[in-house]
Amino acid sequence: MLAQFVVVTNLLALCQIAHAAPLKVVATTPQIAETVEKIAGSYAEVRTLVAPGIDPHTYKATPSDVTALKQADLILYSGLHLEAQMEKVFESQRKKKSVVAVSQDIAKEKLLPDPELKGHFDPHFWHDVTLWKQAVATTKGVLIKADKANARQYTMNADAYLKTLDRLHTDIEKGLELIPPSARVLVTIHDAFSYFAKQYGFKVENIQGVNTESAASVADVKRVTDFLVTNKIPALFLENATPTRNADAVIEGAKAKGWKVALAGALYADGPGEKGSPAGTYEGMMRANVKTIASALTPKQN
Ligand SMILES: [Zn+2]
Repeated sequence: MLAQFVVVTNLLALCQIAHAAPLKVVATTPQIAETVEKIAGSYAEVRTLVAPGIDPHTYKATPSDVTALKQADLILYSGLHLEAQMEKVFESQRKKKSVVAVSQDIAKEKLLPDPELKGHFDPHFWHDVTLWKQAVATTKGVLIKADKANARQYTMNADAYLKTLDRLHTDIEKGLELIPPSARVLVTIHDAFSYFAKQYGFKVENIQGVNTESAASVADVKRVTDFLVTNKIPALFLENATPTRNADAVIEGAKAKGWKVALAGALYADGPGEKGSPAGTYEGMMRANVKTIASALTPKQN
């Protein structure tokens, strides 16, 4: 009787193993891919389309990306027009499989408008950890729907990640607390930090606007130079994935007007750094940004 029972349970285990082919997930950005990996672990095989350091606003799907999208069980993208050049490819897959924007469940009133594209929202919501938590919850829901058998594991893993994100949110607030209100201005290359600014108490100014598709003009450079000089802002932040055109022109312009602007370290704007580097995860990216911002804007003690 006992031997029979063992045989039956072993058979069941074998059936489960045979059935458990990993879900094929295609994610556009590294932060989405990482979320899937954290929640699904070995139950999913994730391919990231936009590698760290590559600009998602202008990224076009390569022929091998299109093959991966066709073969995927599930496609997850950031949305809010971030992947502007891939929307048509997503559309073509929508009838065949689940194609989900991880931003889809964020309440509209929490979204910020894109100042340049009327009727569109600013896509850089991940810089507000509370909004990224919503994207994590959405991702969990989509994974459970696609693979109900492992729902319990997905829920446990997602809950653990959400707790990590709660700690991160508190640490960000603490990490920025020595920056006085007058210095809480982020001047950056492109407009990626409005959600960060709103959540953590900063103002933003930038050379290039929300979408890196349009080039900056001479007028943009002048506007930012004047802003730095007039408001006595000490730093201009570079970015990891956006070319640094015009930053030197701004620094020179300010110098000519008698105001010294330092080129602060590079912020991770559109996603984390190289995998395995300290900023190679969502959490690492946020912590690295806070360190860079705090070190540039906290008054130096003499
Ligand atoms: Zn961006």
